[in-house]
Amino acid sequence: MSLNRLFRLISIALLMLFLALAISLVWIEWSIYQNGANSVPALRNFRLALIAMEKISAERGPANAYMGARQQEKPELYKSLQAARVTADAALGRLREALEKDPAQRQSSALDKIRTVQQALGPARTAVDRVGQQGDMQRSHLYVVSAVNGMVDMIPVMVRVTAELASAVDQADPDLRDGLASVRAAASLREYAGQIGSRFTAPLITHRKLNQDEVIEIGRLYGRIELLRSLLGAQLGSYSPQPEFAHALEEVDKQYFDNGFQFLDYLLQIGLKSGEYGITPSELYTRYVPQMKSILDLRDLLLDDMLARAERRNVQARNFLVSVIALTIVACLFFQLLMYMIRKRVVQPLVTATDLVAGLVEGKLDREIPEARYNDEIGAMTRALRVLKERILERNSLAKEREALITQLQTSSNTDFLTGLLNRRAFFSYGEQQMGVAQRYERELSIVLFDIDHFKRINDSYGHQAGDAILRGVAQTASQLLRKVDVLARYGGEEFIVLLPESDLAQAGAAAEKLRAALAQKEFEIDGGRRIKVSASFGVAALNKGQGLEQLIKLADKALYVAKEQGRNRVEVTA
Ligand code: GH3
Ligand code: MG
Ligand code: MG
Repeated sequence: MSLNRLFRLISIALLMLFLALAISLVWIEWSIYQNGANSVPALRNFRLALIAMEKISAERGPANAYMGARQQEKPELYKSLQAARVTADAALGRLREALEKDPAQRQSSALDKIRTVQQALGPARTAVDRVGQQGDMQRSHLYVVSAVNGMVDMIPVMVRVTAELASAVDQADPDLRDGLASVRAAASLREYAGQIGSRFTAPLITHRKLNQDEVIEIGRLYGRIELLRSLLGAQLGSYSPQPEFAHALEEVDKQYFDNGFQFLDYLLQIGLKSGEYGITPSELYTRYVPQMKSILDLRDLLLDDMLARAERRNVQARNFLVSVIALTIVACLFFQLLMYMIRKRVVQPLVTATDLVAGLVEGKLDREIPEARYNDEIGAMTRALRVLKERILERNSLAKEREALITQLQTSSNTDFLTGLLNRRAFFSYGEQQMGVAQRYERELSIVLFDIDHFKRINDSYGHQAGDAILRGVAQTASQLLRKVDVLARYGGEEFIVLLPESDLAQAGAAAEKLRAALAQKEFEIDGGRRIKVSASFGVAALNKGQGLEQLIKLADKALYVAKEQGRNRVEVTA
């Protein structure tokens, strides 16, 4: 796999891993935020339920007062009872409306229970009205107790509604658990405090002592209230150490547990002994109910604080989510940038360098090596490659130069510089080869040696330059007349030699004659446009078995000597 491809695969794998981590982190933060967003509406529903429960409880005070009213008090007390009923109905209506609007609660059993309570309120209120309309002496114990219980019976249903809504809050934000428990304890405390007051209604209206059931019931309620008191203290402590909560709890102790209990104890003593309470249910209501306000204050303080906390946490969760998303995007971009940098600055240059090195090895020197952009290791490698390429180019041009020099040297060492013919040394080297071939295969081979006649005179008469021109002219004329296979060389001074392969004595003699005639006939041009004529004498010898080149030349030389002797400008053949 190529480095480029491997790197791309690794980057994709890393990016996937990174994205998976980032997405799961965002997902976790999103769920926290989503739950937090649920906690605020859930808390609002819970608060509406607590208020509705409290208002239904609070209706019992005026109801009891009305049931125990003297004739002249009735219109006044009935008015306040109606006002309490309107308040309770409004609170229940608000709760029902809120739950009907909330998609999470629309189908809930809490909503069913609220509808049940709304329906049950009608008959319970009718029972209260019936007792209230009766004369002071007509009121039977049974009717009063049944009317009081009819109102109290709503409460367990409302307790279940608040419990359901509390668990919705708990699910949305478990950190609110201590607060929820404290609020519920405060609400229950208010409820039981109200109930204990209601238990005195029937004895007060019928002017009698408490019966055994009522004593037991009041005792049971006392026990519950004391239990809730300690529970509330403990839970409030773990919910918040802030002094305002401790202060609110002190108020409850002072107002309800000191003042309220004192009043209840007083009524209980009378209820146990004489049954002559000396107060009407209306007076009980106006003296006892205000003592419970501190409990509601504590409840509201807690609810407000929990809502503020939930909203704060919600904002925090949203901000955190936004930061996580932003950080993820930034990290993602940074990762991409990093991969791009590594690719551009490491992988790509490495791949290019590898290509270039391979190219250099194969001798592809035309490829451009890019400039080193950075002063790092890759840059150093690129620079080194440039140097390497320059060295290779230098070495190549040196090698070429050397080859040319060698060729030039070879040519000049084999060539006679004046005539351009082979020189004596080169003639011997070629001649020996040809001799070897002719002897091995028993082929014909001849030698013609010729010398310009009276050349000294030419030099003397026309100058050395003119002599040189004649030498060049003779060489040119002779090489034009000879065959390609014949080897013509300057043997020395004004003496030339020809080696004729595949030629016997007669053929060589004819060739010599042809040369002689041509030279004798030709006019050679020298400086100043003057034309002069020359002649040459020829000695010819042919190869016999066992002879060497030198011997053959000697024979030709002898014939040449004879030609000179015989008067020049002639051809002599060895006998
Ligand atoms: P012969 O007919 O007997 O051969 O008489 P010759 O004058 O040609 O012979 P000789 O050996 O006396 O003279 C040869 C002359 O050739 C002497 C020398 O100066 C001349 N010579 C030899 N080499 C060169 C050369 O390269 N250039 C010129 N211009 N003259 C040369
Ligand atoms: Mg000579
Ligand atoms: Mg001569």
